Amino acid sequence: MVVVGASLAGLRAVETLRQAGYDGRLTLVGAERGLPYDRPPLSKQVLKGDWEPDRIVLRESDRWDELDLDLRLGRDATSLDLTERSVELDGGERVGFDGLIVATGARPRLLPGTPELDGIHTLRTLDDCLTLRAAFEAMPRVVVVGAGFIGAEVAATASQRGLDVTLLEALPVPLARGLGEEMGRACGALHRDHGVDLRCGVGVEGLEGDGRVERVRLSDGSAVDADVIVVGVGVAPVTGWLASSGLAIEDGVVCDATCAASAPGIYAAGDVARWDNPLFGRSMRVEHWTNATEQATAAARNLLAGPAAAEPFAPVPFFWSDQYDTKIQYVGAAEPGDLVRVVHGSVEDRKFVALYGRDGRLTAALAFSMPRLLMGYRRLLADRATWDDALALAAS
Ligand SMILES: Cc1cc2nc3c(=O)[nH]c(=O)nc-3n(C[C@H](O)[C@H](O)[C@H](O)COP(=O)(O)OP(=O)(O)OC[C@H]3O[C@@H](n4cnc5c(N)ncnc54)[C@H](O)[C@@H]3O)c2cc1C
Repeated sequence: MVVVGASLAGLRAVETLRQAGYDGRLTLVGAERGLPYDRPPLSKQVLKGDWEPDRIVLRESDRWDELDLDLRLGRDATSLDLTERSVELDGGERVGFDGLIVATGARPRLLPGTPELDGIHTLRTLDDCLTLRAAFEAMPRVVVVGAGFIGAEVAATASQRGLDVTLLEALPVPLARGLGEEMGRACGALHRDHGVDLRCGVGVEGLEGDGRVERVRLSDGSAVDADVIVVGVGVAPVTGWLASSGLAIEDGVVCDATCAASAPGIYAAGDVARWDNPLFGRSMRVEHWTNATEQATAAARNLLAGPAAAEPFAPVPFFWSDQYDTKIQYVGAAEPGDLVRVVHGSVEDRKFVALYGRDGRLTAALAFSMPRLLMGYRRLLADRATWDDALALAAS
């Protein structure tokens, strides 16, 4: 068997294959040189300077031997041959497989026409984080482009480090696509109250400077001076190496409900996988930690079980985001236009649970610093509860 992508999903896939009794040859290919590490602290504790990189390893180095892997780190898979059933690595070596799990994750998108200037950063890898952390040492003026989760967390961390931070968002409020306008406004208030200059509804026209970035020119004609720019405008699934293979790709590796891709014996998991989630009756690609671990486990089990015994992967998506001292948690999969109602606490106090609903069904729940209450709604979502069931739980 071969697993491509040696990070969270790839590691969970090989661990599951071994735990489930697979004792044949198992190759794990990963483009990054070091052992897999956890990404969430890269925008939080490590960037802030509270943790060093040794705190974020996903599996201690003395526990790798027991997995008995053919480990290829620092190697890129460059193509997939479905006829020969092999993966080609950089340098031309081909590794044959009977089963394959694709776990190549996602990569930050760039702003179109980004100039070659020092001081422009994205954040995905430990190297990215350490470079940015070192840049923060000089107390630069920071502009974060994009107030999605990564951008918002970087802005929060930079502000907590005492830096002068401007956070730019093209939409009317931060996180509008994921959380809707009302809850996005609550996130925006969090940043403004911590002294971040949040500017919404403005696009970036260009990044300017001479050798180093000096300012961001905005669509409203204004400009913001900057020493460091962090671009957080989303990620794209890493599927380029599969482009010529014939495997179905559409904003991710297209999978059925069991995480099986469009060719036999090939599965995908984590940020790169787009699959039919039967619980929500639609195709989704989830870019969050819990999904990467759960989906990798499901994909590995289904690969071993074979198509006849494979089980649908039907999770309630979950994510968290830490910004300042607020823990934001979200379960479910709301869509733009869903009904939103705060059922516990209050938005003003930054301690609340809000429910999302559509067509009489509960679709998601969001909590600011109320973790325990949220989990009750996760169970309701798993049971396809109605909106009224959710309101009854809230009232109980
Ligand atoms: C800064 C940051 C903070 C985050 N914070 C949170 C959070 O608070 N909460 C939350 O729920 N989620 C968070 N996430 C998201 C979470 O970390 C991801 O969902 C998770 O890492 C996805 O795991 P993955 O294994 O699918 O992909 P990745 O972690 O992207 O790993 C894919 C691996 O595949 C490798 N690869 C790519 N192409 C190839 C190739 N051709 N050949 C070989 N190897 C290849 C890559 O180098 C990479 O190591 C955060 C992510 C980041 C970047």
